[in-house]
Amino acid sequence: MKNIAILGSTGSIGTQTLSIVDEKNDLNVVALSCGKNISLLEKQAKKYKPQIVCVTEEADAKILKEHLKDYDIEVVSGMDGLIEVATVKSADIVVTAIVGMIGIRPTIAAIEAGKDIALANKETLVCAGHIIMPLANEKNVKILPVDSEHSAIFQSLQGSNGATIEKILLTASGGPFRGKTYEELENVTVEDALKHPNWSMGKKITIDSATMINKGLEVMEAKWLFDVPISRIQVTVHPQSILHSAVEFEDGAIIGQMGTPDMRLPILYALYYPDRQPLSGDKLDLFDIGTLEFLKPDFETFFGLQLAFEAMNAGGNMPTVFNAANEKSVSLFLNKKISFLQIPEMIGSAMAELDYIKSPNLNDILATEKATYDFISTIL
Ligand code: NDP
Repeated sequence: MKNIAILGSTGSIGTQTLSIVDEKNDLNVVALSCGKNISLLEKQAKKYKPQIVCVTEEADAKILKEHLKDYDIEVVSGMDGLIEVATVKSADIVVTAIVGMIGIRPTIAAIEAGKDIALANKETLVCAGHIIMPLANEKNVKILPVDSEHSAIFQSLQGSNGATIEKILLTASGGPFRGKTYEELENVTVEDALKHPNWSMGKKITIDSATMINKGLEVMEAKWLFDVPISRIQVTVHPQSILHSAVEFEDGAIIGQMGTPDMRLPILYALYYPDRQPLSGDKLDLFDIGTLEFLKPDFETFFGLQLAFEAMNAGGNMPTVFNAANEKSVSLFLNKKISFLQIPEMIGSAMAELDYIKSPNLNDILATEKATYDFISTIL
């Protein structure tokens, strides 16, 4: 029996993780958390009977406590509560399915407590990869990627015995606006941007896919997870989303992982690594697919992707500025306060204005996040 804690159990990755728990008989849920969706968290708590659950607001925790009064489940709130969920003694593995930089502190706490991490929350590595990866090594903790591309890379590396990676081919569907010009993106709506051609995901990452900023975040994530320089990571647009990413080795061999666009596979692989387990659902039929295409990314139309490379090359706290400016501007776009193209514009302005810190510690990262949010509010 493996005991799992899930940060962000009410979201897209969180609910798919629980659907895997439903299929298997050797996974036991010991801790859950959400932001505001307490009605779903209540249903999950009653079904899986974890030891502890966490919500963001204390007032919501009070309501939930009342609703769960007949159950032996502790209800906590806020950042302290999230850290309790991430470090609950009985958990063997923590699934970080929370969205945004809020995941950094609980992830660090989980690693310090010796928990393996099934990592979906890419923002954590983007901003604090230089803290998280050495800490995980020191604590002998596994960071198992859940992002489909990084899981594909991780799977492709199995059995390579530390062979030198020549290149990582990080695939991208190109999102709903692939093939469009910059001018054609001027008037796109929130509804247009939320129509991802292949994947069904949470709103924030769906917008990040439409701007291709998600791919920029993933390049940063890959750099930390696989310890490769950015110059060896090639974003490869692949509209069919069948090859989930690949690794080119020194001898020219390219090894990749293919499958249907189903996040349950990378989640399952992370939960059971190094074993492979059966999974329900459609399998890939290559005869149905017929053709696979690979294209170069358009850095001019999707200049948020270009900015991501600039932030990575600058290093220090610049990926945090990039990420925080993106989080804030995506939320403004979703609330129809700014246009689609203002997302990368605002990120560019923040990167030009915010102070650079070469080797940021955790406090510097959190202070940079706040300064970036404040900056975006002032230019609105
Ligand atoms: P969702 O928006 O669907 O879910 C996010 C989860 O985090 C929800 O449980 C939400 O609670 C909780 N949450 C949000 N804000 C806060 C907060 N401030 N404090 C505490 N909890 C909070 O996101 P996804 O599942 O799509 O994505 C999660 C992470 O996984 C992201 O980092 C994303 O980039 C990454 N990822 C997602 C993929 C996908 O297919 N969805 C693929 C690869 C990576 P509530 O429901 O109450 O709002």
